[in-house]
Amino acid sequence: MRATGSWSVPPERLELRFTDKKPAFSKAEAFAEASRCLYCHDAPCTIACPTSIDIASFIHKIATGNYRGSARTILKSNLLGASCARVCPVEVLCEGACVYMDWGRKPIEIGRLQRFAMEQGRSVELLPRQEKKSESIGLVGGGPASLACAGTLALLGYETVIYEKSQLPGGLNVSGVAPYKIRAEDVLDEVKFIQSLGVQIQTGVELGRDFSGEELLAKHAAVFFAPGLGADSLRGVPGADGSSVVGAVDWIADMKLRSEAALEGVSSAVVVGGGNTALDAVQELASLGIPEVTLVYRRSEEKMPGYEHEWERAKEKRVRLLAERAVSEIHRDSSGKMRSISLLRTENGRSTAQEAGELPCQLIVVATGQERLASLAALFPKVQCDEKGRVVADPETMATGNPRVFTGGDCYNGGKEVVNAVDDGQRAARAIDRLLRGEN
Ligand code: SF4
Repeated sequence: MRATGSWSVPPERLELRFTDKKPAFSKAEAFAEASRCLYCHDAPCTIACPTSIDIASFIHKIATGNYRGSARTILKSNLLGASCARVCPVEVLCEGACVYMDWGRKPIEIGRLQRFAMEQGRSVELLPRQEKKSESIGLVGGGPASLACAGTLALLGYETVIYEKSQLPGGLNVSGVAPYKIRAEDVLDEVKFIQSLGVQIQTGVELGRDFSGEELLAKHAAVFFAPGLGADSLRGVPGADGSSVVGAVDWIADMKLRSEAALEGVSSAVVVGGGNTALDAVQELASLGIPEVTLVYRRSEEKMPGYEHEWERAKEKRVRLLAERAVSEIHRDSSGKMRSISLLRTENGRSTAQEAGELPCQLIVVATGQERLASLAALFPKVQCDEKGRVVADPETMATGNPRVFTGGDCYNGGKEVVNAVDDGQRAARAIDRLLRGEN
């Protein structure tokens, strides 16, 4: 079903049981925090930001009560400043680089100040627009990379149309980010902001099903290809085809957008994987009151690719780790209901024949690295993927092997942060503009 209007989420959803990890500042709190900033020259926080937001400047504007000016400073560098304020891993980016860290003191809470500026000052009128141009650009996927790219192109005067296969735009921001960081309705607010810049969004339409790559290229002067990544699976494990085995992205989307039914009868849940998505999923399951939450990871604890601070938080929530293990079989009762799983020991990430016991389990969330969408990329002539299934592109321009097809976001970088997707999208928009003006 194709939809182009406004979007909403169900009023009853599990994500409403989560409280904000970093609640909004009041005006007095924002002023106090902004006044701590030293407004450093060549500020390391800005250098650490993938979109190079002038952090000292936007914080100074908060301290002087110029909230619209503060929001403008952020939006000039990052159109998705509102969601980045909430979902960025600031501990390893701007706040991690703050000079206060060098003195063993608490860094400036840049993420919360950015959220404050966005909530108090964001407005469409803040951004200058160029005169209308005749060309249109088609964007595949409605996630952060496409939203940032389309918004930038719309401000440059181009007609832009986003094609999103699911019923809600926003990509992983709306369905895949942990609810204690941001809720779906806040993401949809930001989508509406991007729409108000002149971006058209069609949902429920899919490349390869509703239109081909060539049709898209015939209709638009250029295409931005950013469909994200594919689904997780436990392919080949006996019993994995039945119910209660879900990919992490689907699980987080279910939990964010649906009500309690998804957890009925679950007293022991297993998350498979060791990356940040897996760490989000274990924390969510534990916070939702599942008594036993276990992370099963193929390698050692030290080799887990997820952020250490997220794993520390998971441990505080009594999440148990079974490292160097892999799920070898899923056992079900006669009605097909999951009751337990068998595990094997692993060595260097590969399963051995050595059994590692059985674990009661009624739900498995699989976060083993999402499948790449190489087959979709192949729908465009000369667009290629590397051996890991990531779309190959020039990192300066985001141009693929096809001079009219650009890319960015997870399908290009294999699954990084929202802020990296935004940076890719904005860089691609500027390169598309140069191409269409004959400068490339
Ligand atoms: Fe302010 Fe810290 Fe950035 Fe310096 S490094 S400008 S103190 S936020």
